[in-house]
Amino acid sequence: MAKVNPNFFQLAGSYLFKTIAEKKARFSELNPSAHILNLGIGDATLPPPKVALDGLKSACDELTQNPIGYGPSSGHTFLRSAISEKIYAPLKTDASAFAPSEDEIFVSEGAKSDTALLSHLFSDTTRICVTDPVYPVYVDSSALFGKIQKAPEGSSDPYTNVTYARATAENNFCPLPPNEPCDLIYLCSPHNPTGSALSYEALKAWVDYAKAHGALIIYDAAYSAFIEDPKTPKSIYEIPGSEHVAIECGSFSKCASFTGIRCAWSVIPKALKLDNASIHTLWSQFKNVTYNGLSYPVQRAACALLTDEGLEQMKALSKRYMQRAHTLYNGLKQTPYTPALKPAAPYVWCSIPSGMTSWQAFDELLNSYAIVTTPGSGFGPSGEGYIRFSAFAKGEAIESALERLAKGAFV
Ligand code: PLP
Repeated sequence: MAKVNPNFFQLAGSYLFKTIAEKKARFSELNPSAHILNLGIGDATLPPPKVALDGLKSACDELTQNPIGYGPSSGHTFLRSAISEKIYAPLKTDASAFAPSEDEIFVSEGAKSDTALLSHLFSDTTRICVTDPVYPVYVDSSALFGKIQKAPEGSSDPYTNVTYARATAENNFCPLPPNEPCDLIYLCSPHNPTGSALSYEALKAWVDYAKAHGALIIYDAAYSAFIEDPKTPKSIYEIPGSEHVAIECGSFSKCASFTGIRCAWSVIPKALKLDNASIHTLWSQFKNVTYNGLSYPVQRAACALLTDEGLEQMKALSKRYMQRAHTLYNGLKQTPYTPALKPAAPYVWCSIPSGMTSWQAFDELLNSYAIVTTPGSGFGPSGEGYIRFSAFAKGEAIESALERLAKGAFV
């Protein structure tokens, strides 16, 4: 008899976005004329750069003349080369830093699925380390793929056998490596949900830890294009030697409003070895078994982003999202929802009035101001006491939200 994979019962069951949707629906029912401002989700609200849409259209036209069939599971060479040359080569300012070559880049549909599926490369005894708060995909996929288990009822952390590196106000939301040994570390910089970014020194500390412990880092750089401070690393490969310990996942979702178009990549350096096996070979095998490659027009659209014109348009787009983040950050300073740090990505992480839980602050913002946010506790126990405002929201929504907060009501 077929049986269900028992790992499904190990999911800690985050009801975060479901609960938010239910609360929003209930509020709308009670206040049918209220215009709800959505500053909850990190989804694109600006159109993708024109070059990308032109690239998409011309690739579709090309298909009418010349049907293109299955492509390589790791992506077409034109896109892999462009990612290598236009994204990574310019970041190699230090001669001993690493810049991946085209054949170390694997194109995919998203950084979400890559960061989740990479878990398949590691044994069930792998000791996992994540930050707390965290993008929930890293822990939920680790549970689904048998690495970690749901914590007993009443525990403060959602999962057992995970080392949580706590991102708190004390460490400016940039935790350093733990004292105990771990094997697989998920890092994200700039960080969802807090908007913090790891400095060169902090990132080097993680790379040094991985080298010392034979650990591997999955580095999620989905928000790297938003980094404005020239001293902050945009890639883990800016740290010399990191190609021996790190996989990097990048994405066009946020910096090019590609959340609905879908195109991302993972870098698996050939230097990366585990038990003497090449991770690059393992991931090629995994991709060949499970994937037939990303759609050709989408790869052409992404490639158009990496022309000089495309890079300019993508930069302008990221700048517009960051301007919204700065408006939100400066405006929220005048409210009881005080920004906890200056954001390096379009998320503003705010402390909430004392005596309230994150969910109570969420309810207050929804019921009194018709503003949807995301409660910090939904990202992990250290998120309690905070609320996340997303600056991916429409510019008018951000301005109206600040006006409502200043006025003290939504009507
Ligand atoms: N990584 C992080 C840290 C994210 O916050 C998100 C989306 O919110 C993703 C990855 C998803 O990226 P993609 O759209 O490429 O799957």
